[in-house]
Amino acid sequence: MIDTSGGVFVVADGMGGHNAGEVAAGLAVESIRTFVSDEDRPSAGGLEEAVRAANRNILDTAARRPECAGMGTTVAVALVTPTGALLSSVGDSRIYRLRQGRLTQLTQDDSWIAKLQSEGVELTQSEIERHPMRHVLTDVVGTRADLAPHAEEHAFEPGDMLLLCSDGLHGVLRSDLIEELLSADGTVSAVTEALVSTAVANGATDNVTAVVLRRSA
Ligand code: CA
Ligand code: CA
Repeated sequence: MIDTSGGVFVVADGMGGHNAGEVAAGLAVESIRTFVSDEDRPSAGGLEEAVRAANRNILDTAARRPECAGMGTTVAVALVTPTGALLSSVGDSRIYRLRQGRLTQLTQDDSWIAKLQSEGVELTQSEIERHPMRHVLTDVVGTRADLAPHAEEHAFEPGDMLLLCSDGLHGVLRSDLIEELLSADGTVSAVTEALVSTAVANGATDNVTAVVLRRSA
């Protein structure tokens, strides 16, 4: 949403009834921002610790507030550094990079489908769309104390774009369409709006959340 060369960006897609999902997502964003702003020098280890802090914060809150029991959230977080971007994700929110017109997915889903694929099971797009386990996540933030998030640094060079998005977006837009929409001329906010409105027009029934970043030349 912001054209920037520094900062931290988070997409969090919460789950849990009676607004508990929004509580979990809000806690994740706040914990990660607070933790990262206290770090002198951003590192992959520091970003992993920030996600663990979010996890503890959600677990502690759920233990105190019965109406929040069982809440959780996905996170996709990008911490832009002078030379690249530190990325981490838990759940099925994703981060993609567009470089010279080519889209690459930089994070792996923590989902049942992704687990099958990592074990070498080949699934066609239509098999995935009809798979009874297609919405099942193998990890989210806030449901187990021993969450072990992974962060790593990726190149993010002048002209590159990053897209952080919830499954409400990537679940209804094929990657070639995401690539085309990200490649369009225009401000990052216009590109973001086009992605979200196209997802809605394509029948998104879930929350559609997207953040687009472009490294200025
Ligand atoms: Ca992950
Ligand atoms: Ca979702």
